[in-house]
Amino acid sequence: MVATRTAVVVVGAGPAGLTVANLLRRAGIACVLLEERSRGFIEQRPRAGFIEEWAVRGLEARGLGDKLVATAPRHEEFEFRFAGQRHVVRYGDVTGQRHFVYPQQLLVTDLVAQYTDAGGEAVFGARDVRLHDLTSDSPAVTFRTADGEHRVDCDFVAGCDGARGVSQGHLPPETTVKAHHDYGIGWLALLAEAPPSADGVLFGIHPRGFAAHMARTPTVTRFYLQTAPGETEADWPHERVWEELHARLTVPGGDIVEGELIEKRILDMHNYVVEPMSHGRLHLAGESAHLVAPIAAKGMNLALHDAFLLTEALQAHYAGDPTRLAGYSAACLPLVWQYQEFSLWLSEIFHNTAAATDNPFLARIAEARMRRLLGSPAAVAAFAELYIGKNADF
Ligand SMILES: Cc1cc2nc3c(=O)[nH]c(=O)nc-3n(C[C@H](O)[C@H](O)[C@H](O)COP(=O)(O)OP(=O)(O)OC[C@H]3O[C@@H](n4cnc5c(N)ncnc54)[C@H](O)[C@@H]3O)c2cc1C
Repeated sequence: MVATRTAVVVVGAGPAGLTVANLLRRAGIACVLLEERSRGFIEQRPRAGFIEEWAVRGLEARGLGDKLVATAPRHEEFEFRFAGQRHVVRYGDVTGQRHFVYPQQLLVTDLVAQYTDAGGEAVFGARDVRLHDLTSDSPAVTFRTADGEHRVDCDFVAGCDGARGVSQGHLPPETTVKAHHDYGIGWLALLAEAPPSADGVLFGIHPRGFAAHMARTPTVTRFYLQTAPGETEADWPHERVWEELHARLTVPGGDIVEGELIEKRILDMHNYVVEPMSHGRLHLAGESAHLVAPIAAKGMNLALHDAFLLTEALQAHYAGDPTRLAGYSAACLPLVWQYQEFSLWLSEIFHNTAAATDNPFLARIAEARMRRLLGSPAAVAAFAELYIGKNADF
């Protein structure tokens, strides 16, 4: 067993863990980053694409967003396609804020390079990561690599290992509330080798179910299709995918460009939040603490928000102020709940029109909400503020 010591062990090299590790290193706080997958794997894993302006500016202000800001296209409007018509929502006009479109794997690649190029200590392929003595003054993390068993003693553990990691399981059930919501539907997440069919995002609100189009790069486009409970990827051959995308998204003058499907994955649509996000010397950040289905493109933004707050709290601790760490969970959760609420609200517009046969009442309510949104500048302004994120002081 190889034993070492550091100040903070960061478990998980997603957007949350990489941001925490970079910022700790820049603040002169020793850390070790542990990731179970290979570097090559995480630098290729496609997931998010839309980052809210406040989060981009947060990365930029901390010296981590230069490439993103220099290269990412900006989006400040989207289109609802509803009842055979196009309805453009210019949320940038109302809020002065934009989304930056930057595939998550590019951000991960940038953050890994910034950390390792600057001499940051990272272990990829760390297996069987286990956390120990979290309520003592000196917790430890053990793991295995091809070289054998390792133990890192530390002051704190940052649990940034996502929804399937080990950190969340260390929160004691007797003092932890895990609030969970299941949408009861799936989304088929698709990546197509096709140029974007429109400059911006398209949301298709349709009796056959929700569909969406999101530009990713000039040659790759993301699409989503609402699916029935229990459906699998095998239920969605190429022909059915494109038939449904055309049916749900095409309007006169607005067609969909087809391409080879390079990713086809059913997402189980559910949300959760664990409270509090800390236990002893363990502090969770990102999806290890809260999952929000990608309805409103919020998850990575929340992961970055947590990472900023956790790093500031750890810096304050080492500067002699323990109050920020004690208040870390309470500082994160208001934004988490605002984003959960907005995603749930938006989900009812997106998905309930497809409930017309099962539940005509909810379908009509969704349509009424849609018409109010399209007909009222005040309703659009309220919507835009939440859609682009952390404008208001939640
Ligand atoms: C299809 C899709 C589209 C999305 N679109 C958007 C969007 O447009 N905007 C947005 O804001 N969000 C979006 N999201 C959500 C976003 O991808 C996540 O919220 C984000 O990845 C969370 O970051 P994280 O660092 O908390 O967790 P992750 O990215 O999950 O990172 C966790 C890391 O920990 C590692 N790990 C897990 N277990 C262990 C272990 N035991 N030991 C060591 N390492 C471990 C994992 O391999 C992973 O690298 C989308 C998600 C999906 C699935």
